[in-house]
Amino acid sequence: VHQQLDCGKLFCSCPAGTGSPDLGFSRRLHATASEMGQVDTAAAAENVRDFGYHQGDGNCLVEADEEPPRGPNPKAVKIALQVAQLLGAQPLEEMHFMRKVVVDGSNTTGFQRTALVSTGGRLEYDGGSVDIEQLCLEEDSCRRGDGNDNFLLDRLGVPLLEISTAPQLHTPEAVQAAARALGRLLRACRVRRGLGTIRQDVNVSIPEGRRVELKGFQDLGTMPQVVEDEMERQAKLAGITRSEPGPVTEVTRLLANPPTSAWSCRLPGWAGLLGTTKSPLGHPRLGRELADHVRRAGVAGLLHSDEIPAQGVSVDEAETIAAELKCGETDAFILVFEKKEVAMAALERACNRARKTGVPHEVRRVLTEGGSRYLRPMPGAARMYPETDIPPLKLTSENVELPPTLDERSAALPLGTQQAEQLVRASLDGRFYELVTMGSSPKLAARLLLHQLPELRKAGLPTPGKAALEELIEAVASGKLAKEGVDDALATLARGEVLRLESSSNADLDAFIDELLAERKDFVQQRRMEAMGPLMGAVMGEFRGRIDGALVSERLLVKLEEFLG
Ligand SMILES: [Zn+2]
Repeated sequence: VHQQLDCGKLFCSCPAGTGSPDLGFSRRLHATASEMGQVDTAAAAENVRDFGYHQGDGNCLVEADEEPPRGPNPKAVKIALQVAQLLGAQPLEEMHFMRKVVVDGSNTTGFQRTALVSTGGRLEYDGGSVDIEQLCLEEDSCRRGDGNDNFLLDRLGVPLLEISTAPQLHTPEAVQAAARALGRLLRACRVRRGLGTIRQDVNVSIPEGRRVELKGFQDLGTMPQVVEDEMERQAKLAGITRSEPGPVTEVTRLLANPPTSAWSCRLPGWAGLLGTTKSPLGHPRLGRELADHVRRAGVAGLLHSDEIPAQGVSVDEAETIAAELKCGETDAFILVFEKKEVAMAALERACNRARKTGVPHEVRRVLTEGGSRYLRPMPGAARMYPETDIPPLKLTSENVELPPTLDERSAALPLGTQQAEQLVRASLDGRFYELVTMGSSPKLAARLLLHQLPELRKAGLPTPGKAALEELIEAVASGKLAKEGVDDALATLARGEVLRLESSSNADLDAFIDELLAERKDFVQQRRMEAMGPLMGAVMGEFRGRIDGALVSERLLVKLEEFLG
């Protein structure tokens, strides 16, 4: 789970604002070798290319990688330690930032800074518990802007907690329940709220498959289904053996109307496995998979033998190509239209995928319509090296004050469980205590925050200020305003008008009832006790908001019984 913290940025003092497109600047990123001299596979899979960055209103040298990072932000470190303690994790003696090579353009530096804060810990969730492996404090990446390879800097450098659980969640439902519990625990601390502020990556493997990382969950509700889909996908791939591709051959001259030069190679044993959009559900669709790989080399896609006729290539032409490539009955072929250099690089990627038996070790992107698509190879340890611009930070000397959890906050409220839960979930418990301090009863405060003020906002009226609310609460507390009158009084205050409270005494009420009974004598005689309802309506019409409805009902009943003898 990745959770954004609500305390500015990690390595500079910029706010985590909103970026808007501007002229920006560009960077060219390429993979470098790590400490151990190896280049990470995921980094190597990215093409070296130009990326555009936009700062909006900002103008920060740290974000542009023109100035060394400052910090780390002490507030972020404090929150990280709070979360570690809430999880029962063991903080490290010292925190050392590392650089994790990421050259997909999502940062300006070519790496993401990350530091291990604690190890161990345990998370209780609905239906079980799971060990926590580690908690890292890292910087968030850029948001994608319009168009390919364009990025916005507003999110870059926002402190992010990365919490990884141990591989102990055995059902899709347990994965969801644990994610939910962790989200709730995090909300005890100063974390950012709203869309995209908490992101889950789920690693799924089945006994006959391999670990695959799924990124880009839209919401927790879809999580069990996505995990289920991945389990099915892995089961499907588990039975497929690798194909050793034949040599790449130019086949341009075999085609009547090639858009540009055409390059093709044979995939032994893979006929029928590539599939098309018309393939039945449960088909491995390896053609689409290979197409996702060639796209990473910058080509639009590929053509394969299962989908012909397509892209202007006829069945006859396909037979000629198959003969040229020496394809047997069970062999497939793939084809790319591109100039030689690009085509070779693209087919090389597809061939590398074809050489893998069963489930490849990779990162995939979750699709909103279900299923997932290939994103990049699984990064390995080769992508880390030390960040030398940030000195190590002693963690043992940090004094951590533990915030109350949401459960504790909810239990502390002098309200029923449901209302208390609602208030805490909406982070309104602070406001609740404010209103109670102003003299409001807990009941009134809860009703105001959960119903009456939201209703007001829905009606398009502004929320009354502190003084106005104080006046309202005072009026209710002193009995000048009955609870039925609060809605109208709020609207009056919201419009900026003066609250006019006519205090009504019980004597006024009794007098009004007497008069009413006399006036409607015949009706009352005829309907007897059933006249209560209509009479109540008439009295409330007069006293609504000034005298409590329960009191009106009580007085009316007494008077009516007297009247009827
Ligand atoms: Zn900055």
